[in-house]
Amino acid sequence: MLRITELKLPLDHPAEALPAAIAARLGLDPAEILSWTVARRGNDARRKSAIQLVYSIDVAVADEAALLARFATDSHVNRAPETEYRFVAQAPADYAGPRPVVIGAGPCGLLAGLILAQMGFRPIIVDRGKVVRERTKDTWGLWRRSELNPESNVQFGEGGAGTFSDGKLYSRVKDPRHLGRKVLTEFVKAGAPPEILTDAHPHIGTFRLVTMVESIRETIQELGGEYRFEHRVDDLDIETSADGSRHVRGLHFHNGTYLVADHVVMAVRHSARDTFHMLHDRGVHIEAKPFAIGVRIEHPQSWIDRARYGDCAKHPDLGAAAYSISHQATNGRTVYSFCMCPGGRVVAATSEEGRVVTNGMSQYSRAEFNANSGLVVTIDPERDYPGHPLAGIEFQRHWESLAYVAGGSSYAAPGQKVGDFLAGRPSTELGAVTPSYKPGVHLTDLSQCLPPYAIEALREALPIFGRQIANYDHPDAVMTGVETRTSSPIRITRGPDGQSLNLAGLYPAGEGAGYAGGILSAAIDGIKVAEAVALALAGGWQSA
Ligand code: FAD
Repeated sequence: MLRITELKLPLDHPAEALPAAIAARLGLDPAEILSWTVARRGNDARRKSAIQLVYSIDVAVADEAALLARFATDSHVNRAPETEYRFVAQAPADYAGPRPVVIGAGPCGLLAGLILAQMGFRPIIVDRGKVVRERTKDTWGLWRRSELNPESNVQFGEGGAGTFSDGKLYSRVKDPRHLGRKVLTEFVKAGAPPEILTDAHPHIGTFRLVTMVESIRETIQELGGEYRFEHRVDDLDIETSADGSRHVRGLHFHNGTYLVADHVVMAVRHSARDTFHMLHDRGVHIEAKPFAIGVRIEHPQSWIDRARYGDCAKHPDLGAAAYSISHQATNGRTVYSFCMCPGGRVVAATSEEGRVVTNGMSQYSRAEFNANSGLVVTIDPERDYPGHPLAGIEFQRHWESLAYVAGGSSYAAPGQKVGDFLAGRPSTELGAVTPSYKPGVHLTDLSQCLPPYAIEALREALPIFGRQIANYDHPDAVMTGVETRTSSPIRITRGPDGQSLNLAGLYPAGEGAGYAGGILSAAIDGIKVAEAVALALAGGWQSA
């Protein structure tokens, strides 16, 4: 199979234009093409008057070698990559060895659990939160009634943080083994739309994610895996050998129960602040790492569609427009858009009482009125939270608490119009943009809950973004805050064997451990760590 990349056709091309373009690109008669499939489809909207669809196509021809030789110097005609996933090990059918335990049923833990189950290791998956349908009710409790359940919310529970999200499934991580393809294939088996396999910027939307998470659970259980919900890991049982080396031997849960566990995947993400404190107290090697802080910004989606697609806005092949922007500010900070949600809404994303955190989500249709995106500013341990490896957590808590107060101490988000923010005055009334955050927005001055350097960098960046995307800095665009959970403030460093540097048997994984940022990369990391666990467990057997 050959792969042609960067094959461009006009937005409204007829269906038959594609096979004709494939044949023309390869200098063949259409009859010489044995078969073809779309491997990926995106668009190039840099020229709004001539938007193009951009394809990667897999093509079968009779004499592949001759064609490859003919296109030897053409970087867009190559052999199609081998993307089929191969397991690194397989347990015997009557496997009765140690059962790996996965802490966290988010995308990282779910893929780790699924892969371990598919290899026959019968994993046990534990999560502090509830089964996804019950968790959904609790999450809506905060959004509709300002009632937070600190153990069951947008951050904690089956499906993990991304369950109530836009479900964007792309990532910039290097993926030479095409593990992302394995993730997407499993998601489709679990009910995701098949287009995610070919869209250049796939997304699922929140409702489907709920059903998919249930389907993955059923698969893991059918393969001999087990779940324990409402089991928060509060402590580790650690054995110290005569030579001083340490190995995890079990888990203590908040309800007083105990589970023997020699191989533990720790996939808890960065909102598990109590768990990170416990790991630090138990001497697990943790480092502080950079992340970002800022706001969510909202514009009508129609403004963004118009700015990105001009007269082609609303074209069914384009969908709701997204954007990605960044600016290097003169104070040394980078301002960038983060987790942009077209046609979605801003959501309350705190997991701790007395704090306000924003994030975004959307449905598959992306049909809601506003576009929203995080607009965040880089921060790093040396400058902004020096000293203790967990100082980034206290930094987050500080600004989230100030946001709670600035929002009126009721879980409403503090908000400000861009015009007022740029002019340095509090907002008192809304204009053309109605913010979507529930349980509500309290108009105020966001400088009460953001560090001065972040305010400065945002004020510099907004007019520049306004020149790139018309109306981006419109005085009525609304910003709410604070956006603090952009990525983990720590890394639980692991060695080449996937295990903690100083605690054998602990496999830190996913976003909380600092090895991923987003659903897809967290799921990919789950596969990698599952492989490390399987290889350790399979020591005595021959690897597949
Ligand atoms: P998580 O998904 O957070 O899973 C961790 C799990 O660990 C949780 O279920 C938690 O209950 C459990 N846990 C924590 N502590 C313990 C403990 N002590 N004991 C037992 N269990 C514990 N990313 C994207 O790529 N695209 C998006 O569109 C997107 N939108 C988002 C929207 C929102 C509102 C939010 C909050 C996040 C969004 N993200 C998005 C980020 C994405 O959700 C995360 O990157 C991803 O979920 C990380 O996966 P994970 O498995 O590492 O952690």
